[in-house]
Amino acid sequence: MKVTEHIKNANGKTLFSLEIIPPKKGENVQTIFNHLDPLMEFNPPFIDVTYHREEYVYKKHPSGLLEKKTTRKRPGTVGICAAIRHRYDVDPVPHIICGGFSKEETENALIDLDFLGIDNVLLLRGDAIKSEGKFIPQKDGNNYAIDLLHQVDGLNKGVYLDDSLDDPTPTDFCIGVAGYPEKHFEAPNLEMDLDFLKQKVEAGAEYIVTQMFFDNEKYFEFVDHCREMGINVPIIPGLKPIATKAQSTILPSIFHIDLPVELSEALQQCKDNKQAKEIGIEWGIKQSKELMERGVPVLHYYSMGKSTSVQKIAEAVF
Ligand code: FAD
Repeated sequence: MKVTEHIKNANGKTLFSLEIIPPKKGENVQTIFNHLDPLMEFNPPFIDVTYHREEYVYKKHPSGLLEKKTTRKRPGTVGICAAIRHRYDVDPVPHIICGGFSKEETENALIDLDFLGIDNVLLLRGDAIKSEGKFIPQKDGNNYAIDLLHQVDGLNKGVYLDDSLDDPTPTDFCIGVAGYPEKHFEAPNLEMDLDFLKQKVEAGAEYIVTQMFFDNEKYFEFVDHCREMGINVPIIPGLKPIATKAQSTILPSIFHIDLPVELSEALQQCKDNKQAKEIGIEWGIKQSKELMERGVPVLHYYSMGKSTSVQKIAEAVF
């Protein structure tokens, strides 16, 4: 079922969902099940699975020189989606990214997903790989999330890259995109970022999932701003339970977000990560309860393979 249908069928009740990350190449899919099993009691109607591009790794050549190789460290998104469907009968939402993939590779992945009966995709541009510093589009690939959206929307209308096909079957993906309550870091200002978001919605995006935020006011202001601009699709808040002391500085630098002073001070005063995790859980409960009271459609947790914090928050909130 489509994410938008799940939201509609909930009749205003807030749903629980989460995002997982595929295991590193060589690890077992059981690690995903161990993570998800305890969270199934909260009945997530859908689970997002992130997508990862190739990265460079350096290997030592027998000559002693360093050799630059590319590898996908976290493949398996499509397989994990099929496994989630099979084991839990929950709708998986694979992420699809522009960076690192040609349009043809993307089309083939979408055909696999369609054949597996997967109804949803979250479409993203992807980030720069570490060695490149800024995002460089793949040759023959999509530049921005909106270009990828045009590709998927085209496929939903039966437009494949090969225009010589006889009577091609259209897909029927429900399309989600990302939004940034604290602005995407590359956008010169929030207005322009929201203009691009609006373009994604006008091009066929049916819902938005936000970047993590720790101050609910930022989310409420973002939603108000979107509504004023005529962006009327559901806006799903993304929440990350903080689990370590170091995340108080790491998360702002990686994700270009702010931590409220009260939260960062509390984390700084923690004597160890056990305490920091407890603070993260308390903060997550407080945030979730307020968002739920204000009627958000879904509380979507960035669980990153760690279930205990999400479990404790969900126990207190759902
Ligand atoms: P876009 O919408 O393409 O925007 C990128 C930037 O370009 C923005 O600054 C925007 O304002 C600007 N822009 C947009 N359209 C145009 C245009 N037409 N012309 C000029 N400028 C434009 N990354 C992964 O690699 N894998 C994942 O699975 C993944 N999942 C994510 C899930 C969520 C909910 C979120 C919030 C992020 C996720 N990311 C993931 C990270 C994401 O790929 C990065 O944040 C990326 O930098 C931007 O992606 P986007 O889809 O928002 O890009």
